[in-house]
Formats: sequence, C-alpha cells, structure tokens
Amino acid sequence: MSRKDPKVGFVSLGCPKALVDSERILTQLRAEGYQIAPDYDAADVVVVNTCGFIDAAVDESLDAIGEALAQNGKVIVTGCLGARPERILERHPRVLKITGPHAYEDVLTAVHQHLPPKHDPFTDLVPAQGVRLTPRHYAYLKISEGCNNKCSFCIIPSMRGRLASRPIDQVLREAESLARAGVREILVISQDTSAYGADLRYRRAKWHDTEYATRFLDLARALGELGIWVRMHYVYPYPHVDEVIPLMAEGKLLPYLDVPFQHGSASVLKRMRRPAQAEDTLERIRTWRSICPQLTLRSTFIVGFPGETEAEFEELLDWLDEAQLDRVGAFKYSPVEGATANSIAPHVAPEVQEERLARFMERAQQISAARLATRIGGEETVLVDTVEGTRAIARSRGDAPEIDGLVRISRAGKLRAGEFARVQITGADDYDLKATPIA
Ligand code: SF4
Repeated sequence: MSRKDPKVGFVSLGCPKALVDSERILTQLRAEGYQIAPDYDAADVVVVNTCGFIDAAVDESLDAIGEALAQNGKVIVTGCLGARPERILERHPRVLKITGPHAYEDVLTAVHQHLPPKHDPFTDLVPAQGVRLTPRHYAYLKISEGCNNKCSFCIIPSMRGRLASRPIDQVLREAESLARAGVREILVISQDTSAYGADLRYRRAKWHDTEYATRFLDLARALGELGIWVRMHYVYPYPHVDEVIPLMAEGKLLPYLDVPFQHGSASVLKRMRRPAQAEDTLERIRTWRSICPQLTLRSTFIVGFPGETEAEFEELLDWLDEAQLDRVGAFKYSPVEGATANSIAPHVAPEVQEERLARFMERAQQISAARLATRIGGEETVLVDTVEGTRAIARSRGDAPEIDGLVRISRAGKLRAGEFARVQITGADDYDLKATPIA
C-alpha cells in the first residue's frame, strides 16, 4: 500500500441486510483503489452505515456518527437512518453528506467528492466474490430490497421502498462465486424471502443451461445444487413455502426456516397487518414437520403490542406451546416514529410488557431446552466457527450465526475453523449443545 492511498473508515451498524449493503460499498471502494482504514486516525473520511428501525437503533446510530465526527471529523452517513436526514442534522449538522438505504452510487459519489480516488485503480486486485465483513466461511446473500407489506409497526417500506428483487441469474452467479471462494454456508436474506420475484413477475433466466424462474422455489432448488449449507431467513408462512420443505428433507437445503410470526393471536396479527395473517400457522407447521421432521423453526415475536389484552397474550402462549418452536427471540413493542401502530389504543403499560416478555421467554426457554435434549446421543455435522486450544465453537444445522445457539466442542484439537466436522452430541442446556468430535 503506498502512503498516498486514500483511506476510508467504515462503521457498519444494524441488521444483516445493512451488512450486505456495507459489503457492496466496500467492494466498490476497494475496486476503485481505496484502502479501508482500521481506525478513525488512519482514515481520510469515515462512512457510517446506520440503522433506523427502532428508537434504540436510532440512538446507537446517532452516537456512532457523533463518535466518528469527534475522532475524525469527515463523516458521510448512509443506511436506514439516512432516510430521515432531519433526525441526523438536528444533532450532527457537520456531517458531509447523508444518503438513504441502498444508495450505493450516492455514497460513492460523496466519497469521490471529499476524497478523490487514485487515478490507477487496481480493479483486478479485488476478488470476484467481493469484500466480506463476515467470517470467510459464511456469507449473507441478499436477494431483494424493500417490501410490499404494510405491517403497522414497521416503517421499512417507507424507508427502503417497494419490493425490488434481483434477477435469479445474478443472485445465482453471486452465490456460486461465494462457494468457489470457500464459503461453506450461505444465508439468504431479504425483507420477505417468500415474495421473491413477485415484482419481476417471476422472470425466467438461465444459469448453467437450466432455466429458472425468479421465485422462491426455483431459488431454493438452484442454491441446493451448490453443495454447501443454504439457510433461509425471513420466510412468511404462505402455502407455496410447503414446496420448499421437501428440498430440506432431501438434504439440499438446511432444514431450517426463520419465519417472523410476531404473534399467535389472530386479532393481534390483524392489528399488526401481518402478511399471511389469515393462514392457519399451526396447521402449516404440522405439515412442514410431517415432511421434514428434523426442521428447526426460528421466529421473532412482539409482546405488549398496542391493544394486546391478557387473553390475547395467553393465546400467544398457547400458540407457542402448540408450535414448539426451536429458536425464539422476542421484543417488547416499542413505538417507531412514523409507524401507524402508534395510534392503536391503549398502549400496554411498560411493567405489563416487561412481565409478559419474561413469561413468554420462560416458556420459549423450556421448549428450547426440551427440544435440544432430544438430540443428545446423536451424531451431527457441524460447521466450526472458531478453535481455541482444545475447544471449538461450532454451529449445527439449527443455528444461524449470531442469533441462535452454539455447539461447544471439547477435545477439538484437530478441528479447523471454517470446516465441517462430524460430532457426537454429549449434552445440552437451554440454548446450546455440547459435543465431541467423532474420530
Ligand atoms: S414484512 Fe412487515 S415487518 Fe417486514 S419489512 Fe415488510 S412491512 Fe416491515
């Protein structure tokens, strides 16, 4: 690296979807000859990719911008919070430029303006698979932007726009280059994976001499040919999702579905205006498990949504008992500026929200522990994330990185990070498994 290489600092906040945005911007910057600075001091300019989903994320983003301004002084802001520039300018009038979510071109233009690129960009030094912020052995694959739903607690559609799917051949080429670069696990993300391609009228395209439609089932089929782990996130319980479950039973895709159910009471789901709210979700889960018994179901929920009565909350607990979900995250409803749910009355008192969250998580924890216990004694393939001395941390088919549990492996001396390993499950607690390698 020459001393004159322009250096960009990068702070990436928010969800995996924002991470994918960051990766794309970084890839392009590297392609243009910029270096990525390891800290504020070394950077000529800092890009902050923000999150604006809930108020806590807004605060975190505003703090990050403040820190970058204090430490470096030259700051460009992008990401979800960038869709509301007045919130940023109110606290940080000195930022150089604010761009909205997935406005890659605008971010790059702003960087060019404040830190011109070198004249001889080493474009061919950038690996074909791009620059990834996630560890080498797994990568997120974003298949679309935006969302056509109108959930009453969410402002993402107004920030990120309507559903805009990437054509299937483009997505498959990216997935293939990731696999070639050594990625062992692809995590498919979007705001609504089951709706993939609807905006393109399921346009058809060729990949390796086979024609595929830009739709969820074809995407699943084609990714299943790559011979690596493929994990599906943000899938809604529509009937057409049933068609993908046999691919999981055949081992083409990980037997894992992340379905943000959000609630189990029909009346609350209606107030939330959730997609697929009219579906009989318990029946759907029964069908899925009858096709693929080893399926891991992950979901997130909101407790204390405006208007939630004790009876509706108990319906949710009963629903959870029936659904027996493996992995569950839950949040107390928190008003997001601009969300229509804020006007639903009455709001649930914070202490009631707190109490319901604790009851809900206790139930979810018991289910998680009981389901993990059934795996003790079995043999499984895991993907090793890290190895330290004789211990390794890995993930099983049922564990997405960062949000699910872990497999803690002892006597792991011969294992390598980023590789698959066969292990015997020797124990389980509420969320994690214990294992030893099979020689
Ligand atoms: S599906 Fe609902 S919660 Fe998800 S992004 Fe779309 S509107 Fe928001």
